[in-house]
Amino acid sequence: MRGVSQSKMMVQGLEVELLRKTVKHLRLKVYPPDGRVRVSVPHFVSDEEVRAAVLARLSWIKKKQDHFLAHPPTPVLEMVTGESLFFWGKRHSLEVVERQGRHEITIQDGEKLQLSVHGATTTENRLRVVNEWYRSELKQRIPPLLSRWQPVLGVESREWGVKNMQTRWGSCNICKKRIWLNLQLAKKPLQCLEYVLVHELLHLLERYHNVRFYNLLDHFLPSWQQSRDLLNSRSER
Ligand SMILES: [Zn+2]
Repeated sequence: MRGVSQSKMMVQGLEVELLRKTVKHLRLKVYPPDGRVRVSVPHFVSDEEVRAAVLARLSWIKKKQDHFLAHPPTPVLEMVTGESLFFWGKRHSLEVVERQGRHEITIQDGEKLQLSVHGATTTENRLRVVNEWYRSELKQRIPPLLSRWQPVLGVESREWGVKNMQTRWGSCNICKKRIWLNLQLAKKPLQCLEYVLVHELLHLLERYHNVRFYNLLDHFLPSWQQSRDLLNSRSER
């Protein structure tokens, strides 16, 4: 068994990281955030074969790199004055005020989001305060939406909650009739919360994303595609 050997190669001005290891096939990947290109190949594949494989996929690589440039990763917030926070689709500038007493968030003049915390509070703690605030705002908005939509759709959830999720806006456990809504929805326009809620409630009528499901969605919430696009746009993080 041979180990891993690493080298670099230039292909038409493109820098490629070459990793020779015990794999079966050549594998080419482009990595975010800057579009680094890496090729993993079996030991027996020659440099010329690698070069040809990269050349053959050059336009695909360029497209990937352009995509990463156009969609930079969400910057990590440090929860300091001057940063932007979104709330119901609107950008608010954050002002951190250090003081004794209860941690608190208030919106000043509908514009500034003021976070009052103790001086020694860590970034992590500030983020927790903000997230708990988002959670409580969502928890105020969800019950009226449920009372409005459940009779219309003819379904009833037994339980619902708010959870910070990485990959989904909402989920529905059909057996338990339990709905989870993503905490991040508080950053998006309110119509997005409504769309996700209706979507999840509809799963109590139709489990799968099939024609019947989308017919129901079209019928009850004709504007759902607009909300979905807003949800997936990068403008509000
Ligand atoms: Zn679904």
